[in-house]
Amino acid sequence: MDNCSIRVKNVYKYFEQKGSGSGKLLFSEKKKVKAVDGISLEVRPGEITGIIGESGCGKSTFGKLLIKLEDVTSGQIIVGDREINEFYKNDKLQFRRNVQMVFQNPFDTFDPRYTIKKILMEVLDIHHIGNTKEEKMEIITKGLESVELKPAEDYMDRRPHELSGGQLQRVSILRAMLLKPKVLISDEPVSMLDVSVRADVIKMLQNLARENGTTLLFISHDINTVRYISDRVIVMYLGRIVEEGITDEVLHNPQHPYTKALISNCSSIDVFEKKEKIKVDGEPPSPIDNGPGCYFAPRCPFAAGKCAQTYPDMQKISDTHKASCHLLNEKEDEQEIKN
Ligand code: SF4
Repeated sequence: MDNCSIRVKNVYKYFEQKGSGSGKLLFSEKKKVKAVDGISLEVRPGEITGIIGESGCGKSTFGKLLIKLEDVTSGQIIVGDREINEFYKNDKLQFRRNVQMVFQNPFDTFDPRYTIKKILMEVLDIHHIGNTKEEKMEIITKGLESVELKPAEDYMDRRPHELSGGQLQRVSILRAMLLKPKVLISDEPVSMLDVSVRADVIKMLQNLARENGTTLLFISHDINTVRYISDRVIVMYLGRIVEEGITDEVLHNPQHPYTKALISNCSSIDVFEKKEKIKVDGEPPSPIDNGPGCYFAPRCPFAAGKCAQTYPDMQKISDTHKASCHLLNEKEDEQEIKN
């Protein structure tokens, strides 16, 4: 694997859900839950990309596809220069070394019977890192200290439940980063942590990714966190990307009503810059039968006739920013008439 770019081409992930019908005959019908519904994107090597959206928007499923915890229904994912299925099938250990994941709940991540030393030593053993036991102990000691768990000896013999959530998430990040992965997927890594430690853990994650040149995909529902850590941001709604671009561009000049709503309802994002408060009612509908129109139409305060009939194409706002909304076409039409 020569570089750590990620290329995603027209990827779908559907799950089958059993439904029930009523009538003379009892029957079951299989419905398709469209968790990821046609995503294409390119993440550059070493870039930190935030993926944002409400729960149920498909962002976690998308992360699992990238680490092969789920298989795509159709489409292609290329990690570095290797197609993901071929890479995983032919070289599973190398794949795991190159592509790592940090999960939301660190207490679910580890075997509760293992000490921190054993957890970290196991990773070094599996991936043949360090030649002798002494060398491995030195790697573990330096690693724990690099994630601010020092003196390291104080943590080595503890078990996961003897650490706080923040301390254990540091171990979780360290376990992934000991492998110097080319790609790291982190799924809501601080959402279960105490507010007081979130910023430190995010900073640490950002520093480790930058130092190692790791391509980081940071999945979160919290726009402030994504804004802090990411070079680029992707906004997902019901399995699709509705807006993407350089973080500052998207967050200071959002074009999609859903992105505008997320920003305007975020409590602390540049309050003085807020121009309009956008209220969006209700929860996202179930991603089963989304219809032909814009998926956001049932909740969008700007929805008009065309919105329920045709899904809007992705429009270029600038070289580094795009969004999919029919309102953007109208703006273009207005501009043409003026000219
Ligand atoms: Fe709203 Fe229509 Fe734009 Fe969809 S296409 S976000 S419904 S205005």
